[in-house]
Amino acid sequence: MRVPPTVSSEAYFIDTIELRPNPSISANVLMKTGRRLRIPRFVSMLSTKDNEPMPTVETARNGDPLDLARLLVSIPSVNPTLAPRGAGEARMAEVTADLLGGWGFQTDTVEVEPGRWNVVGRLDGEGPTLLFNGHLDTVGVDGMTVDPFGAVVEDGRLIGRGSCDMKGGVAALMAAGARLAAGGPRPTLVIALTADEEHASVGMADFVGSGAQADMAVVCEPTSLRVMPAHKGFVWLRAVFQGRAAHGSRPDIGVDAVRHAGLYLAALDGYAAELQGRGAHPLLGHGSFHAGTIRGGTAESVYPERCELTLERRTMPGESTPDVVADFQSVLDDVCRHHADVHASLEMTLDRPGTEVAVESMLVQGLLDAAGALGIESRVEGMTAWVDAAFLNEAGIPAVCFGPGSIEQAHTADEWLEVQEPCACAEVWERCARGLVP
Ligand SMILES: [Zn+2]
Repeated sequence: MRVPPTVSSEAYFIDTIELRPNPSISANVLMKTGRRLRIPRFVSMLSTKDNEPMPTVETARNGDPLDLARLLVSIPSVNPTLAPRGAGEARMAEVTADLLGGWGFQTDTVEVEPGRWNVVGRLDGEGPTLLFNGHLDTVGVDGMTVDPFGAVVEDGRLIGRGSCDMKGGVAALMAAGARLAAGGPRPTLVIALTADEEHASVGMADFVGSGAQADMAVVCEPTSLRVMPAHKGFVWLRAVFQGRAAHGSRPDIGVDAVRHAGLYLAALDGYAAELQGRGAHPLLGHGSFHAGTIRGGTAESVYPERCELTLERRTMPGESTPDVVADFQSVLDDVCRHHADVHASLEMTLDRPGTEVAVESMLVQGLLDAAGALGIESRVEGMTAWVDAAFLNEAGIPAVCFGPGSIEQAHTADEWLEVQEPCACAEVWERCARGLVP
């Protein structure tokens, strides 16, 4: 039994000290949020989770978001491209597929590259098809100051690698799936748990490439329970400046490629100002750029023969890569016109588009309404980082980000997640999903 004897098994408000199973924990939760929080029923066990044994696959079949989150954090799934001995997604895929199958999902596991797995679960319902997506991998654990796979709960926080990014989100979407599978009105559900989001997104690329179909999607990255329907894209550029090597005492023959890169960077100041002058995106603000790396020269006394400068431009949804490249090229052409000895080339090395879903869309409004009805404060915000949602948007599946945890805790040395967030999130998704049924 998971409910303290003094409270009902229904969701309740932390309102008075009497409702706090462990005063220090709840005070902590209240202090951090500074607002009245509706705590879903599972969180009534905040205090006891501290000392409870580690959930197993068998006990996690109860669909409790926190049990699921602890179980998933305890399973190492470091992306092997990021860390040579990373465990990869295999065990995570095995466990999540087993659980989804047990709740009635028709489940496929797909090896997208050797040792790299996706899991796709499907459950029929009425009305539109709603896709939930999360990734199974995590970043590495070097330098962590907490046990990465201990999955302990302390002071209302689940601690460990992936707790925030994004096993808490995967646990929440699985909990919502379990409840929707158990009965009541539901849309058709697809749960796609993908490999390699932290590196090259081979899992999402495979899922989309295999003809994934849905009417709308929620990508469960940490957004602190805010609805994020828009995110920035990026364009990477490489400029190479060609100089002429010469002894430092011979300005008559030496051409300083590093200084020429500097001239270009200085000239780009005007472009930065121009970007700020363009109309702002309502959720994302303005495009921006910065120098990523600069390499050139061999010694103090030698004119540098070559300098390579890489740049990153963060873009707004709808900006085209050719236009962005043309902007940078035109500034470079200008520099070359004013300095006859500058010889430079520019190329685009990688681009990913920014994408957005209309704020008025059924999904964005459905998530806001569901959160509001549950007393959870939410709002629409832009996501600054590029995320896998772009793959779905490009494939014609409108995707928004909404998930438990703050991006500030992602990838950190002491990564943690407030335990009430996956629980609250599961409730929002369940309610939102049911609301989609005509
Ligand atoms: Zn993530």
